[in-house]
Amino acid sequence: MTFVELGLAEPLLRALQEEGYSEPTPIQAQTIPATLAGRDVLGIAQTGTGKTAAFGLPLLHHLAATPGRPPRGGCRALILSPTRELASQIAESLRAYGRHMGLSIGVIFGGVPHGAQRRMLNAGIDILVATPGRLQDHIDQGDARIDHVKFFVLDEADQMLDRGFWPAVRRLLPRLPKEKQTLFFSATMPTEVSKLSGEILRNPVRVEVTPVGTRAERVEQSVILVEQDRKRTLLAVLLRQEGVERTLVFTRTKHGADRVVKQLEQSGISAVAIHGNKSQGQRERALEAFKTGRAPVLIATDIAARGIDVEAVTHVIQYDMPDTAEAYVHRIGRTARAGATGVAIALCCNEERDQLKDVQKLIRQDIPAKDMRNSIDAPTDRAAPAPGRVRPAGRPQQNRGRPQRQGQQKRYASR
Ligand code: AMP
Repeated sequence: MTFVELGLAEPLLRALQEEGYSEPTPIQAQTIPATLAGRDVLGIAQTGTGKTAAFGLPLLHHLAATPGRPPRGGCRALILSPTRELASQIAESLRAYGRHMGLSIGVIFGGVPHGAQRRMLNAGIDILVATPGRLQDHIDQGDARIDHVKFFVLDEADQMLDRGFWPAVRRLLPRLPKEKQTLFFSATMPTEVSKLSGEILRNPVRVEVTPVGTRAERVEQSVILVEQDRKRTLLAVLLRQEGVERTLVFTRTKHGADRVVKQLEQSGISAVAIHGNKSQGQRERALEAFKTGRAPVLIATDIAARGIDVEAVTHVIQYDMPDTAEAYVHRIGRTARAGATGVAIALCCNEERDQLKDVQKLIRQDIPAKDMRNSIDAPTDRAAPAPGRVRPAGRPQQNRGRPQRQGQQKRYASR
């Protein structure tokens, strides 16, 4: 299957070629034909499967084929996203895919002043990507209207539910017109999410890829059993290993994330943190430092890491085991994106053994474990499992922000 066979418009095909996408991912191969045929879609897929292009490409195709102006404050396509990071990334991807089409694409989210967003909305916009709370604010203030939406995408519905945005989403829905095409994406289908999809989708095509509960393919997983108070030394050792280039480290709490950054810096390893207590500016700077390779290590909490789309994350290290087994699957899904391979290492102390059991039950496999408890020596390079070399992901010809392999040790040491 190729993008040409899917029947996408020529300007899109050109943009995809420039992006270096040679063939559709499974979710794209299934979602694009159904959407182009005008069907509603229920997509069960997590980030990393290519779902943004799965809904974005047919949406851009349709909008370009049906010219029309959005009213003041209005938009022709609305995409709701649970986080500002994800909203920005969706807009960025759509701008890349639609770069030869001349459509206007805007993004609105909370935590920043209203003024610029208000001005953008005022002019009317073809595609609006928004977080639900801020969109509701603009509607309440009379700056936005969503009654002309032809395409509605609800992305990461399960995250909307988990993060308490359900009431905001429910308030927005009745403001949408009845006649529209709806695409609904969620990584998991808890009862509430399933109920809502049943209410808003009309005879949808159901598309399901890499459901939670099956192993994320291509991720080389391992777990190291270690005492809690030795995790910090072990983490520094792991990060210094050959082949460990761009690493996302997960902690359970925001304070934990800040603590790990300090500890790593004491060991001469440059790291930045991203979590809910950081301002928008701090988050953007941290993400930028990670994307450009200036900080090869990003420490994140589960919520903050949602939707972060950074290419070529070679390693995911779980400093703390996650609260839920599903979060483990989401975490390891941050590496091995779009065809690349990746390494995921979980550090598990005695108190976290039950969480590890839950994870293994969910993914229906035993994760290869190395027991480093009660080892007399502090961990050494030799003692830790070799993660192996990994192939960086995505957009090879553009080399966007990929960290350099050479000089990695030096960079760690100098910061
Ligand atoms: P998403 O699941 O939408 O967050 O996409 C995950 C990553 O896959 C992003 O970095 C995309 O740029 C990339 N991607 C999406 N579709 C393709 C494709 N057909 N070929 C190669 N990379 C892709």
